Amino acid sequence: MKREYKHIIIGAGASGLMLASLLKEKQQILLIDAGRSVGAKISISGGGKCNLTNESVDSSNYLGERSFVSDVLGRFDQAQTLSWFAKRGVHPVVRKSGQYFCVKSADEVTALFHREIQGVDLSPNTQVKNVYKKDGKFIVETSRGTYIAEHLIVASGGLSYPRIGASGIGHDIAKSFGHTVTTLSPALVGFTLQPEQFFFKELSGVSVEVEVGIEDKSIRGSLLFAHKGISGPAILNTSLYWKKGKITIDFLPDFSWKSLRGSKKQISTLLPMPKRAAKTFLEYLKIVDKPANRLSPDDIENLKSLQEYSFAPAGTFGYSKAEVTRGGVSTDEMSSDTMMSTIEPNLYFIGEVLDVTGELGGYNFQWAFSSAYTCANALVIEV
Ligand SMILES: Cc1cc2nc3c(=O)[nH]c(=O)nc-3n(C[C@H](O)[C@H](O)[C@H](O)COP(=O)(O)OP(=O)(O)OC[C@H]3O[C@@H](n4cnc5c(N)ncnc54)[C@H](O)[C@@H]3O)c2cc1C
Repeated sequence: MKREYKHIIIGAGASGLMLASLLKEKQQILLIDAGRSVGAKISISGGGKCNLTNESVDSSNYLGERSFVSDVLGRFDQAQTLSWFAKRGVHPVVRKSGQYFCVKSADEVTALFHREIQGVDLSPNTQVKNVYKKDGKFIVETSRGTYIAEHLIVASGGLSYPRIGASGIGHDIAKSFGHTVTTLSPALVGFTLQPEQFFFKELSGVSVEVEVGIEDKSIRGSLLFAHKGISGPAILNTSLYWKKGKITIDFLPDFSWKSLRGSKKQISTLLPMPKRAAKTFLEYLKIVDKPANRLSPDDIENLKSLQEYSFAPAGTFGYSKAEVTRGGVSTDEMSSDTMMSTIEPNLYFIGEVLDVTGELGGYNFQWAFSSAYTCANALVIEV
C-alpha cells in the first residue's frame, strides 16, 4: 500500500463508501476504517433491511441548520439516490410510512459498495489516531502507520454503536483545526424510567400506538415497552428533542369516549390497546375491570389521565443502543456547496459527524449520501 494519496477518507460507513464510489480516480483514494468489515452499520440497519431513504425528505426532518441541510439535500435528493442505487441493481421498496427498505437484506447495499469501490485502497482494522497538517498536506497517523494526503475527508460518523468501530475521532480532528463541536448526546434511542414508571416493565414486549408531546411537538407512532424502559419509533423520534424534563404520552390517541357509553363489554376489551396493557393500566389507576356501563364518573376522569400521562424519563439507553448522535461538527464553519471547512482548506466533513441529525425513517442515510455527493461534486465526480 502506498503512503501518499490525493484523497484520504476516514470512515467506510454510508457516507465514506458513497464518496469513494462517486470519486473517479480510485487509485488515488485511501479509505480507512477501524472496523473489520466496511459498512458495518449499514449491515445492521433497518432491522437488517436497511431503510435507505424516504419518499418525502426535506430539512424539516432534521435537527440542524435548515438552509445548510436544504442546500445539501437538494444536490442529491431521494429520487436521485434511488435512481443511483437502481442503476447499480438495488431496488428498495416502500414498506411503511414512506420508508424505502431493501427487498432481501442490507447486504445488497454493502455488496453494491464493495463493487463500486473496486480500485480504492481499503485499509480495514485501522484506527486513525491523530491528524495534522504539514507543508500543505494532511498527515494521518493510524494504528498501521502514517499516511499523507492532499484532501482529507472525515466521514467517521458519530459515537453510537462503539462496538462496531464508532469513535470521537472526527470531533477531535475538527477541534484540532479550530472547529466548533456542538453538545453531543445519544439520539434515536429508548428512555430509562424513574421508579414511578417501573410498572411499565411488566409490559415488556408489548407495543401500543401513542402520541407523545415534547416541547411544542407531537409525535405519533408506536411505543414499545422494553425490559430496560420504553422504546419504539415514537419514543426514538422523541429522543431527538429530549434533553431533560417531562414528556407527555397520550396512550389513547383518537379514542372515542362515546364507545364506552352504555357498553356491556369489559373496559379492558374496549380500550384500544393489547389487553395486557389495558389490564396493567387499569390496575395502576386502581380501576376494577368491569363492564363499561358500570364505570363511575370518577373512573372515567381517572381513565382520561391516560391521554396525558406526563413524566420525566430517567435518561436514555445510551450510545450502545442509540441509532445516532445528536450534535457534531458545526455546519456554521462548513460550505454547503462543497462540505469543505471554511477554516482549513481541503479538509471536508460528511455524514453524521456533522451537527445534522435526521428523524427515524431513512433520513440519516439520505444525509450521508447527499453530503457525500456534495463533497464528491467538489472533488470532481463520476456519477
Ligand atoms: C442499529 C442502527 C440502525 C440504523 N438504521 C438506520 C436506517 O435504517 N436508516 C437510516 O437512515 N439510518 C439508520 N441508522 C443511522 C445510520 O446508520 C447512520 O446515521 C449512518 O451510518 C451515518 O453514516 P456515516 O458514514 O456518517 O457514519 P458511519 O456509518 O457510522 O461510518 C463511520 C465509520 O467510521 C469508522 N471510524 C470511526 N472512528 C474511526 C477511527 N478512529 N479510525 C478509523 N475509522 C473510524 C467507523 O468504524 C465507521 O465504519 C442506524 C444506526 C444504527 C446504529
